[in-house]
Amino acid sequence: MKIRIENRINLYSSYLKEKYGKKVKKICLSTGIVCPHREKTGGCIFCQPETFIENNNFNKIPITEQINRQINEFEDKECLFTAYFQDETSTAGEEAYVCKCINAAVQHPHIQEIIISTRPDYISKQLISNLKELEKKITLEIGLQSIHDKSLAFLRRGHDFRDIENCIDLCSAAKIDLGVHLIIGIPDESLSEIIETTDYVSDQKQIKFVKLHNLVAYRNTPLGELFEKNMIKLPEIKQYIDLLCEILPYLRKDIVITRLFTSNVLRNRTALNANTGSKKIWMNELDRKLRENNIWQGSKRTD
Ligand code: SF4
Repeated sequence: MKIRIENRINLYSSYLKEKYGKKVKKICLSTGIVCPHREKTGGCIFCQPETFIENNNFNKIPITEQINRQINEFEDKECLFTAYFQDETSTAGEEAYVCKCINAAVQHPHIQEIIISTRPDYISKQLISNLKELEKKITLEIGLQSIHDKSLAFLRRGHDFRDIENCIDLCSAAKIDLGVHLIIGIPDESLSEIIETTDYVSDQKQIKFVKLHNLVAYRNTPLGELFEKNMIKLPEIKQYIDLLCEILPYLRKDIVITRLFTSNVLRNRTALNANTGSKKIWMNELDRKLRENNIWQGSKRTD
């Protein structure tokens, strides 16, 4: 009997289905705060702001209106909604302004839970204590990418592993759930180093969600330039799928995988690599490999 992919790995769609039993849609929101890392230093090597949010002109509109506009587009009135502060570094602004934006989502009657995307070095004690007071479930989502400082330096993240640890410590003490982004296939990172990052993530009980990314080189980014000059090699999708199959057994079983592939490669035509095929084809290929090799999320962990 064929075992479905959602039984081998813990997908976000299954998590939502089990938790709510209804369709849940993500409402993507922008605080309008520009990432200070990009402003000050030019930003991460891969950063291409045009790919962040489909409708990025939202950043001039109040949060309640952004939510209402998107909810109104859905015909299914039974649908539930999650507010996702996705754009840039959502917590980098003035404390009062950040609180006002988040509160608008908390108070919106159709929003079930809230996800706030940011950098590990923009999570303060004060922010955590503000979030603890809120009545709706909050998840902080950070770009963790790798636990290896040499990889963080290559990616020009502008922070190091200590910042990641501080952020996780703060969230763990306050019991605020964390989601993390990981880039799988950073140049010069070995498989054992990727597994070390996966092990670290799995050991952090406060990390409940993971977004896995293939590294995309966009045109007009420093990474794109290196790629065009043949100065770096990035894994093809097939190699990326092989890497996923290697690391999934090390990922704690209960961690929910909210992304398996960088999804905007096709939507945004400026991707220089990894743009053959579609997400559906990649998922089918992953499914086939998982079945062929009898791979299960968390099978190499003892918890
Ligand atoms: S932290 Fe995010 S928004 Fe800021 S430079 Fe890096 S990728 Fe871009």
